[in-house]
Order: sequence, then structure tokens, then C-alpha cells
Amino acid sequence: MTSAIVTGSPAEALVLGIETSCDETGVGLVRGRTLLADAVASSVDEHARFGGVVPEVASRAHLQALVPTAHRAFATAGVTPNDIDAVAVTAGPGLSGALLVGVAAAKAYALALDKPLYAVNHLSAHVAVDLLGNGPLDEPCVALLVSGGHSSLLLVPRIGGEDVVELGATVDDAAGEAYDKVARLLGLPFPGGPPIDRLASSGNSAAIAFPRGMTGPRDEPFSFSFSGLKTAVARWVEARAKVGETVPVADVAASFQEAVVDVLVTKARRAAAEVGATGLCLAGGEAANSSLRERWLDACIADGLRAFVPSRTMCTDNAAMVAAAAWYRLALDGPSSLASGADPALRFPGY
Ligand code: ADP
Ligand code: MG
Repeated sequence: MTSAIVTGSPAEALVLGIETSCDETGVGLVRGRTLLADAVASSVDEHARFGGVVPEVASRAHLQALVPTAHRAFATAGVTPNDIDAVAVTAGPGLSGALLVGVAAAKAYALALDKPLYAVNHLSAHVAVDLLGNGPLDEPCVALLVSGGHSSLLLVPRIGGEDVVELGATVDDAAGEAYDKVARLLGLPFPGGPPIDRLASSGNSAAIAFPRGMTGPRDEPFSFSFSGLKTAVARWVEARAKVGETVPVADVAASFQEAVVDVLVTKARRAAAEVGATGLCLAGGEAANSSLRERWLDACIADGLRAFVPSRTMCTDNAAMVAAAAWYRLALDGPSSLASGADPALRFPGY
């Protein structure tokens, strides 16, 4: 077992990141806070006809893609495996077989090169990626993590620390999941976020008053619910189809998006005010959404908060975020054991 540690300044360490928790095979290289390479191979096309990710298909795609993706990342960065100071990998949460491919690859690199291994929580990585664009996050920070699998409001006193507090999460569907389901209903491709986002820009967001879940006076202030909204959209569309009316798809997309974004931004602002945060960080695949990004920046200006919004390409799953998360940890604690494994149900904060 390697007992390697980072030698030299952790601030300038060259970290190799590996991400395989879902359908993106990612290999990233980050030196300090600088992104050198972010290679991603996606198997999304192989899942599209099923309307969701098929775990076994994803695992096999990772096996095929990992080595070529790693070679691409090293070539782009202009470095060799011998140059790296640490190896970081998503240990969970995610699909079991998919995670195992990345974890096995990361251990192989760590062992062969005698470099320390950092097992990273996928959710921490989504939040940490902003480091590469905007520098270290304000601490304490409130982060909204919205993706295909997660919707949570987090209090982050220290990035990379174990003291992250989940202020609230979705009680049913994740926001991205609602996008994917509504897209299917409207006959749009999977994943549903990007096509709804595009269509919404030509629709009227005030056309249909869809419900805002979990916003009643007795509801949990920082929890979310998107399942009722998805059902409301389905009923509305069905009712039009029943009487032979054409469904105004752009208006439905815009009004649905407005309902999602409204709840997300309102609750994030409330959380920041309650905990006295100075920064608001947006993270996860759904953070690529145009309307959410616009409203987020407006809210931060109005409330005097620093806005941390990663570039669009850094929002969806990638490995640069895994390397960034490890960077925060280099100075905080020692590496993970090579005996540590993949944990599909890794609890948050974990690492
Ligand atoms: P995971 O939960 O698997 O980690 P990602 O973080 O990669 O997922 O996020 C994927 C999700 O992000 C999908 O549900 C997709 O619909 C959503 N998404 C991507 N781009 C947009 C967008 N522009 N608007 C809304 N949702 C988006
Ligand atoms: Mg993700």
C-alpha cells in the first residue's frame, strides 16, 4: 500500500482527476487552481432511446473510454503521468459498476506512480469546481446543487471539510430529473435540460401558472419538491391534447422553467440570509440553465452577495471538478487509503 504524500507546495500540486459516477467518463488535470485539461467522453447517446441512463451500458462505456480519455487529457495538458503529484477520483455517490471503473483506474495510477490517492464525493466536486473559474469560494458559502440526481441547499463552512450541512434537499424528484421527464412529455430529446432551456427562450414564462412546490407556510423552508410540478405539466398538456388543441410547447417549457427557477432562487436567497453567508454558489448540471444563471446573478446583486457560478461546461459531470475538490483537501488532511472502495450511496458531506 502506498503511503505517498504530496511533496512540494500543495497550492501548486498537479492533480489528476477521474470521474465515472454516471454516463460521463472524465479525466481532468489541474495545477493549483489552473485547469490544464478536461477530457470527457459521454455515453449519453447510448442511453437516449431508454430515456435514462442504463447502468450496465454506462459501465462498459467507461471501460472502453477511460484509457483513451486519459491519454487525451495528458496530451492536451502537455504533461506525463510521472509529472502528477496526486490522483483524485469520485468514490460516490453514483452507479456502482460505473464508479468501480474509475476507482480501479485511479488506484492503478496511484500505485504505479507511488502518488497519494484522494477519494472525492461527487457532490463536493460539483461545488468545488468554481475554484477553477473564480478562485476559492467565500467561506461560509451557501451552495445550491442541482443536477440530474440531486437538488440540495448546502451550508459550506469550509470546502473540502467534512462539516458541510445539508440545509434541505428534494423530497422527490431532482430538478434535472423533472427537466428530463417534462422533456419526454413534450417529445424533446434526453437529457431534457438543454432542449427545454432553448425552447423556453422563445416562450412566454407567464403563460401558465404552474405550481411552486414546497412553498407553503408550513413547508420545510429549504426542501424542494418537483414531482407535483411535473404532474401538473402532464395534466395541462393532456387536457389540451384531449380537446384537439395544439400544445404551445415553447410556452409550456418557459412556464415550467420559470416555476423551477423561481423556487430554487427564492430558497437559496432565504438560506443565505438565514445563515449569514457572504457568497452564493450555483453547482451541478442544471446550473448550466440560462434562466437560472441570470436570476442567480440578479439575486446576488440585489442581496449584496458574491455570486459563484461556474462556466457552463464545468457544470455537468467532468473530472476537473474532482481534481479541484482534491486541491481543497491537500492542505487539510492526508490521502485516502488504497483499500478504500467505491460507495454508490456515499453520504454527504463525506469528502
Ligand atoms: P448527475 O446528477 O448525473 O451528476 P449532471 O451534474 O451531469 O448529472 O447534470 C445532468 C443534468 O443537468 C440533466 O438532468 C440535464 O437535463 C441537466 N441540464 C444540463 N443542461 C441544462 C440546462 N441548460 N438547463 C437545465 N438543465 C440542464
Ligand atoms: Mg453530477
